[in-house]
Parts: sequence; C-alpha cells; structure tokens
Amino acid sequence: MPLTANWSYPTAIRFGAGRIAEIADACSAANIKKPLLITDRGLADMEITTRTLDLLEAAGLGRALFADVDPNPNEKNAAAGVQAFKDGGHDGVVAFGGGSGLDLGKLVAFLAGQTRSLWDFEDIGDWWTRADADAIAPIVAVPTTAGTGSEVGRASVITNSETEEKKIIFHPKFLPTVVICDPELTVGMPKFITAGTGLDAFAHCVEAFCSPHYHPMSQGMALEGMRLVKDYLPRAYADGTDLEARAQMMSAAAMGATAFQKGLGAIHALSHPIGAMYHTHHGTTNAVCMPAVLQFNKPAIAQIIGQASRYLNIEGGFDGFCAFVEDFNASLGIPRTLTEMGIENIDVDRVVAKALSDPSTTGNPVEMTAENTRRLLEACC
Ligand SMILES: [Zn+2]
Repeated sequence: MPLTANWSYPTAIRFGAGRIAEIADACSAANIKKPLLITDRGLADMEITTRTLDLLEAAGLGRALFADVDPNPNEKNAAAGVQAFKDGGHDGVVAFGGGSGLDLGKLVAFLAGQTRSLWDFEDIGDWWTRADADAIAPIVAVPTTAGTGSEVGRASVITNSETEEKKIIFHPKFLPTVVICDPELTVGMPKFITAGTGLDAFAHCVEAFCSPHYHPMSQGMALEGMRLVKDYLPRAYADGTDLEARAQMMSAAAMGATAFQKGLGAIHALSHPIGAMYHTHHGTTNAVCMPAVLQFNKPAIAQIIGQASRYLNIEGGFDGFCAFVEDFNASLGIPRTLTEMGIENIDVDRVVAKALSDPSTTGNPVEMTAENTRRLLEACC
C-alpha cells in the first residue's frame, strides 16, 4: 500500500514521497503569493532547500530565504526574521526544517504583524489573546526531520538567550494552513539526528499517553505513535533510504505533536532548561531522561504503561517497558546519562528551578516538587 494521502486534521496535510513538488500549489492554497522560506543555517545550502526554492521561483512566487536560525532559536533570530519578512514585502512563510526552522518560521509569520513584543505572548494564562489574529501571516510547513511534529503544532518553542529559558509562544493560528509531509526530504538525515528526533516523537507519545488529563483521542494517537516508532525507527536508523520507515516515522512525529495537546511531563520539563543552558539536542536529551522519568512516575503509570505494553508486544508490563526503553536507547546510540552526553557539573539548582516553572510540569502524572525533581535530575546525571 503506497503511503500517500491527504488528511484534514489537525490541519490540511499532503502526505507522501515526492509531494514537495506541490509546494507552489500549497502556497496558493494558503493564499501566499510572496513567501519567505525560513530554515536553519545547517539546511540553507542543502539540495532539498535549493530544490524547494527552485520550485517556488519557477512558479513565479519569488526566491527568498532566511536562514539565520540557531539550533535552539532565540529572540534575536526572531527579530532578524521579522525584519527580513518586512524588508522583502512577504505575505506568508514557508517554515522548512526540523524544530528550529519550523518553530522560527511559524514565529516570524505570527510576529511580523504584531505591535507588542515577543515575550508579551508567552503561553501563560490567556496571553495569546493579546495578539492581533488578523495580522498573522499564513504558514506552509515542510518538515525535514521526523520528531518535533511542530508542523502540526499551535506553538513555537523559543529560547530567551538572556535568561537561558525555553519559552512557549502559543496561538491557535500558529497551526500551519497547509503541511507537506514528504518523507524523501528526510533520507539524508544523519544517524544521530534520525535517532534523536525519532525519540523526541516517542517522548511526545509516551508523555501524552501518561498525562492524567482526559483526552481519549490523544490517548489513541499516542499509543499508535509509540508503535510506529518502535517498529520503524530501528529501520530508518539502520538504512536512511528506507522510505517506508521514513514515512511511518514522519507520521509518528505528527501524531506525537497532535497527541501532546493532552499534556507533556517531566521529560520535557527537564530537557527544556537543559537544552537552553547546555545547547544539547532536544530529542536526544529527552531520550536520556526517559528511563529515570518512567521510574519517577511509576506509582501513577504502572497500570496504563502495562496496557500500552500489551499493544506494543512488550512482555513484562511496566518493568518490561522500562527495559525495552533502555535497550531501545542503547541500540540507537543514545548516551545513558547527561554526563555521558557531555554535561559536566550540571547546575542542579538552576535546572530544577527552571523545570518547576516549565509549562510541561503541570502535565506530569506525579506532582513535581523541588525535592523530588532534584532527585530525578540526579538520577539522569
Ligand atoms: Zn519534544
């Protein structure tokens, strides 16, 4: 069965190998006539990026690229992107890349027409209502990794480079109007990015599944997303050109991000400050933290993880699932600890304080306190 389809939730998704050819049509569908393609520096000169720019140019939509985007994008990248958007007279964004390009692209489309400053829109209470919704430019999103799922998300994660905190900027109109999920764009991903991003999708599914809020739709999506990662990430890792595995991972990424409307938890609460302070890879950091977080949450999740294990054909209930996660990480070249990942002398007090104020904390099934979060972080080191 060819893995190609058009989906309409959570937004319009054109899924299938080779569908980047429809980029100009996707812009038209989103009512974009003069797009700014936003991606990160690492992707700027890659063939998948220049080919996409070629397609836009050939269709008469111009050729404009902004790639001054750090791996953990910050407010300076956002300001420069908004300037490029205004200077070029653009009317929409093609957000292209992994989490960095997608999040910064979405943020530029959001900010370009606003009069308030970026941090006024942080995802606290109803601050998103401060935005002028009519001034938000349309977005076409094109993921080139399979992990973040930001292509179907209604938020951007942005690092405040002064406070070294990852902040979430939320607005319903961050959700791209059209998404092109073309697994061929991911075949060139290096192994460690394939592993790290794939395990980010897995963390989204696991945390959403375990989060205590009532959301059965997300529950189902998270469970099937876990299965896709379990079955297909090893194949994508072993052979980057395995298009079926790449496609299934791209689905798992979108499913994880859709599912985590239900909630995230301690994995992301820890990895956000660690990533902001030590510039580690987001998905890899999540993977390193997952075994300790599972143990931390055991009293609240042993039963439902047991249910998930039956679906995933993992024997031994909760303990079997934990053993699977450790073996899975090892098979994908993931370090066992934050120290092994290269973080020496971690600033425990600061990471714990920032973790407790991270919005993901509220979705964790066991209440996080200064004391137990300290023990949890130490278990990850
Ligand atoms: Zn994540």
